Amino acid sequence: IIQICLPLNALGFVFREARDALVNTEKLFGLLQQPVEIQDAPEAPPLKLAGGAVAFEQVHFGYEPGRPILHDLSLEIGAGQTVAVVGGSGSGKSTLARLLLRLYDPQQGRVTVDGQDLKHVQLDSLRRAVGVVPQDTVLFNDTIAYNIGYGRQGAGMADIIAAAQAAQVHEFIMSLPEQYDTVVGERGMKLSGGEKQRIAIARAFLKNPPLMIFDEATSALDTRAERAIQHELDRIAQGRTTLIIAHRLSTIVGADQIVVMDRGRIVERGRHEELLAKEGLYAQLWNLQLQQEQFEKLERRMARQP
Ligand code: ATP
Repeated sequence: IIQICLPLNALGFVFREARDALVNTEKLFGLLQQPVEIQDAPEAPPLKLAGGAVAFEQVHFGYEPGRPILHDLSLEIGAGQTVAVVGGSGSGKSTLARLLLRLYDPQQGRVTVDGQDLKHVQLDSLRRAVGVVPQDTVLFNDTIAYNIGYGRQGAGMADIIAAAQAAQVHEFIMSLPEQYDTVVGERGMKLSGGEKQRIAIARAFLKNPPLMIFDEATSALDTRAERAIQHELDRIAQGRTTLIIAHRLSTIVGADQIVVMDRGRIVERGRHEELLAKEGLYAQLWNLQLQQEQFEKLERRMARQP
């Protein structure tokens, strides 16, 4: 079955399926959606950070009874390391991120940060330690300054500008008529997906968390925007424990570890070159993505011709 399903899954992943996924990650990560059963254990102490090492230990998880999603999943992300998760649509990548934010608890096994079971630490302290750059950033109907400053309570204008500079979005903001006072969001100025994501990155820089979840945008960015985001991603990952939910394999070539998921299981793990040499699912995904890129290039060239 695996032999038959993997190529199908791979196709879905590389082509439209992932791109068309209806999942709005910001909403899913959104704390408002937090299930009521997730609460602080009585007298739970705050998370004590010591580098931010993450471990999923034999995790079994399903959102509803009778439909398991993650099966006996173990994964370690060393302090300061970057782990990228790839896999078909619905394979469980975002679920890992949600468990790390403790939006849900595993039914079996545990998720720890620096050895502390997330079930037994103060939720607030965990959420403060983790920054999220969602794939589909929803901006508030407010100024750009507000949207960035939301990353850290009490941040001053100088901090906001420094964060925007780090996210390489300062110049763009300065080119707008009202600069940092420009109102964005649904009722304000419309920004492109890449611009919105960079504002989310600025917000994350301001928060300066030891742990970072980066959910790569599935929507097509042009090569320049993609390279710029890549650059910022590398910078934001530096010195932080980073979990990337990856949709474009080209952005994760340098990750310390790549894990390939298929229907709730990790089926391959290693660095980019190791996985290519294995000639397994990752290598298939890689080759398909190269083909897809060439196809898109051709499509663009044809579109330019009269
Ligand atoms: P994509 O690349 O499309 O974003 P993914 O690998 O991130 O996919 P997940 O979002 O982790 O996949 O979903 C894994 C499975 O869990 C899917 O079958 C999905 O339908 C299911 N699922 C996700 N969220 C919920 C939810 N809140 N309630 C019930 N099932 C859910």
